[in-house]
Amino acid sequence: MFMAMLLAALIVLIAWASALLIPALPAWAPWVAAIAGVFLLAWFMPARIVRPLGSLTNVLGAVRSHDLAVRARADRGGVVGELAHEINRLADGLRAHGLAIRQSDALLSKLMQEIDLPIFTFDSKHRLAAANPAAERLCGTRLKAGISAQALGVEDFLDQTHDEPVKLEMTGGAGRFLIRHRPFRIGGEPHTLLVLTEVGGALGAERREAWQSLVRVLGHEINNSLAPIKSIAQTLLAAEGELDEAEVQESLRLIASRADALDRFVGGYAALARLPTPKITDCELENLTARVAELETRVEVELDGPSMTVRVDADQLEQALINLVKNAGDAVAEDQGQVRLQWSEQDSGILIEVLDNGPGPPESENLFVPFFTTKPGGSGVGLLLARRIAELHGGWLNLEPRHDQPGAVARLWLPDQFR
Ligand code: ADP
Repeated sequence: MFMAMLLAALIVLIAWASALLIPALPAWAPWVAAIAGVFLLAWFMPARIVRPLGSLTNVLGAVRSHDLAVRARADRGGVVGELAHEINRLADGLRAHGLAIRQSDALLSKLMQEIDLPIFTFDSKHRLAAANPAAERLCGTRLKAGISAQALGVEDFLDQTHDEPVKLEMTGGAGRFLIRHRPFRIGGEPHTLLVLTEVGGALGAERREAWQSLVRVLGHEINNSLAPIKSIAQTLLAAEGELDEAEVQESLRLIASRADALDRFVGGYAALARLPTPKITDCELENLTARVAELETRVEVELDGPSMTVRVDADQLEQALINLVKNAGDAVAEDQGQVRLQWSEQDSGILIEVLDNGPGPPESENLFVPFFTTKPGGSGVGLLLARRIAELHGGWLNLEPRHDQPGAVARLWLPDQFR
């Protein structure tokens, strides 16, 4: 292009110079040369400038209307080629940027759909821009964009800060909610994000379930103990002194044993609720385990471990081991199986194991969940209490099937500082 202009200017210049220097040339000659130059330019302009610029304008128009796949021909040399190249790079950049925005938009809307918290977005005039399914569930209806925050009953939450949970009653649900609102922009326009987190409901449901289990288990156990006590007492009353001394003694012994069982049972719950910080003292592990073994009267408990002094809360550790040995006893009592209580020093602490050759623990993730039991008269707190005790000492407790033979092994580990 530049060359074409240069050529045209040169022809005109030579023509005029020749007219001045060569008087013999006719006067129209320079004019003919000038017109030829202008024709030359007119021939080059559309081919080299107007058409390429026209196609670049088209590309820019396509980019402006978000058609980012269109590209300009960048194989021309010179300034026009460079311009085309730059426009193509601009379109590439916009395309990559647009893709990233679309992907994060998609992620955001997926999150909003999946999240179980009611989320609303409102524009600056407090009209709904979007709401997720949890918000629709709370409002009890499908929500259309444009509906006012006032109509939804959340107008107050868009400006005011609420540090405490707020009681809300909506068509689709009610509860206590923590309210959070944050400003943000969509396409440069100010919007407000409103998130409601229910604090009462979920906790309430869990608590209700725990209370129901507690009442069920307590009711069952109290009935188990009170029913025989009542019936023995009625028998004693009905006999009106006709029973001999031995029979009366036996009946009273039964009443005392049931009352004891009930006492122990209720004591287990109380211990779980009020487990104090361990009072650490020196304790002979051999003596402690011997006491535990003596309490299991249904089967013999084999003891195996070195003589050693441990620094623990002896009452708590004894309680934990009583629970584990009782469970092992429960597992084998019917078949007169074996229970072994063994302990050993490990590099980093003491490992106490209670092994039995019963059926092994049930396949459940709830063994340590309060009130989980598979036994008709079970309380479901024994394992949990033992684990709490281990943890209060900085240790852990688990219950697994044995690898060497059928049965269960409860492992209680206490860390070094308690040796
Ligand atoms: P409970 O003994 O009152 O049922 P626990 O919390 O002590 O309560 O035990 C929970 C459950 O774990 C038991 O009901 C039983 O199913 C299982 N379990 C515990 N120890 C053993 C064991 N040694 N062998 C088999 N199952 C066990």
